[in-house]
Amino acid sequence: MNFSQFQSFQPIAAIATTPQAVQQLQPLCQRLNAILWIPHTLQPLPGTQVYNGSLSDHLATLWSSHRGLIFGLACGAVVRLIAPLLQHKFSDPAVVVWDQTGKFVISLCSGHQGGGDQLTRLVARQLNATPIITGASNALGLLGVDLLGVPFGWRRGAGDWTEVSAAVARGERVQVSQDAGSSLWKTALPADHPFDFNPNPEAKFHICISSQRRVSDITQVQWFPRVLWVGVGCERNTPRTLIETAIQQVLKQYHLAEAAIAGIATLDIKADEPGLVELCQDRNWPLRTFSPEVLRVREVPNPSQVVEAEVGTPSVAEAAALQAAGVKTLWVSKQIYRDPLPTASTSNRIGQAVTVAIAQAEQEYTGRTGHLFLVGTGPGELDQITPAAQTAIVQADVVIGYSLYLDLIKPLLRPGQVVESYPITQERQRGERAIDLAQWGLTVAVVSSGDCGIYGMAGLVFEQLRARGWDGKTPAVQVFPGISALQAAASRVGAPLMHDFCAISLSDLLTPWEVIQNRLKAAAQADFVCILYNPRSRTRTEQLYTAKRIFLDARSGHTPVAMVRSAYRVDEEITLTTLEQFNPDHVDMLTTVIIGNQSTDIYENWMITPRGYLGQ
Ligand code: SAH
Repeated sequence: MNFSQFQSFQPIAAIATTPQAVQQLQPLCQRLNAILWIPHTLQPLPGTQVYNGSLSDHLATLWSSHRGLIFGLACGAVVRLIAPLLQHKFSDPAVVVWDQTGKFVISLCSGHQGGGDQLTRLVARQLNATPIITGASNALGLLGVDLLGVPFGWRRGAGDWTEVSAAVARGERVQVSQDAGSSLWKTALPADHPFDFNPNPEAKFHICISSQRRVSDITQVQWFPRVLWVGVGCERNTPRTLIETAIQQVLKQYHLAEAAIAGIATLDIKADEPGLVELCQDRNWPLRTFSPEVLRVREVPNPSQVVEAEVGTPSVAEAAALQAAGVKTLWVSKQIYRDPLPTASTSNRIGQAVTVAIAQAEQEYTGRTGHLFLVGTGPGELDQITPAAQTAIVQADVVIGYSLYLDLIKPLLRPGQVVESYPITQERQRGERAIDLAQWGLTVAVVSSGDCGIYGMAGLVFEQLRARGWDGKTPAVQVFPGISALQAAASRVGAPLMHDFCAISLSDLLTPWEVIQNRLKAAAQADFVCILYNPRSRTRTEQLYTAKRIFLDARSGHTPVAMVRSAYRVDEEITLTTLEQFNPDHVDMLTTVIIGNQSTDIYENWMITPRGYLGQ
């Protein structure tokens, strides 16, 4: 079940009006937890619901309460049905059409901000269909201008989004200025992107990524990374409106955008301050609180002895802002805002005051819960990757892996996806990086060839998470199995794994050779079919000779042996031989070796281990 992959589109509903479409969409809808609506003329199935009256009336009831709608109808019919309901691309749900031959999934409407393009890709991966995405930015290998900050939780500001997007589509140069937030998005740009990061006086279009409001005389859009931590100090029972006004006044005075606020920071005794709590809930701001011991050691521009005497730290607003932002200097030092018009409803004390200070963090607050997908990508060819694993890869904001395997899955990658490739030896770095990004709130896919939990990255990532005191839930981890080399290799030579088998890696980088040798002896004596992973590297050549001797001590020299190199890749090579004839020099690190048990046989170039159905 991959519900989490479709979480951001929930609630999703689907509509089908023919028996074929119902048959095809029903399993998908069950997996997605989506209701499949059908007319009363069709046979209901589990998860389907019958709508009464006309489809257009029914659709009107689904429209505003759903974020994703999947239609198993002709595009033309869908266009007519949704036409009267369309309001704005900011608010309309993603509309996806599944073609009734099952070959295509089409992003029809709300492709960018409604997430239709992404929903289309995910549904297509699930149904093994081709996604049809007709937007210009996708064709240019770019994430839409109106989407580029979404993975990092940036907020869209005012601006002429349509004009700037159209300029990108026309291939015009667009000036980008960024003084806040992550620049990771730039690493996902194709080489021929239209953005100028250095001032270009010729530019007619501008994307501004900042915490500050900017006015521009050229056509502009603004993204606001959530980098501002607002430190607040106030007395007990300060009304919410007063805190709100104080913050707004300070923001206005310093040309800062409310959309750039990451959250509110204050003293721990304020964790239940009603006005603050209510304001944070309303704006979806985290409220971070710190003890006086933590705050008192922060160096601040305006310490106060009065405050220190009262709460045990000479600064609340300034120190809390710095602490939450993890920086040393403030953007706005302490401002005191007094209630200009105390009334009975807002305050019964004249001159109630709120102190506000603002610090800007290096790294923005994403407001998202991170996901770590540990994905097995199979032996090589794309069609050996499960649809679930493909969906996980499409879903990820960041894909991390060993360069060779990333090349193999290139066709699955989509515009805007950050791809970080590492050399073969840097497994730990890959794991730590993935965890860092997921803890920050991104969805990260760590890809391993074969199965990620068989000599792959999954175990390492779990160990690293445990070392960081992971609570088992955040980031959320999902493991996607893949076809391991032992299955891939076996399938190319017949059915050698039909009876009990044992996989042993000959790599002594992480396991003492002594231990490996003992396992080889035990497995050889117990008559397991044996699969040798990592049989040999450029520098590690002796081990396979020793393994051969160990097996010859326990088994006949006629025992079949298969060497499968690069299974399901273009340079695949398969050799069948016997234990006696087996030449370890013909094996390299891309090879899996299968050694039969005492009943394994070769028949017409197929390696078969009898299960026993036909007797001895
Ligand atoms: N997680 C992987 C194993 C990684 S260990 C899996 O489940 O398959 C690396 C070893 O796997 C290689 O040294 C080789 O022995 C084997 N291997 C990986 N891909 C292979 C392929 N396509 N063909 C043959 N052997 C392969």
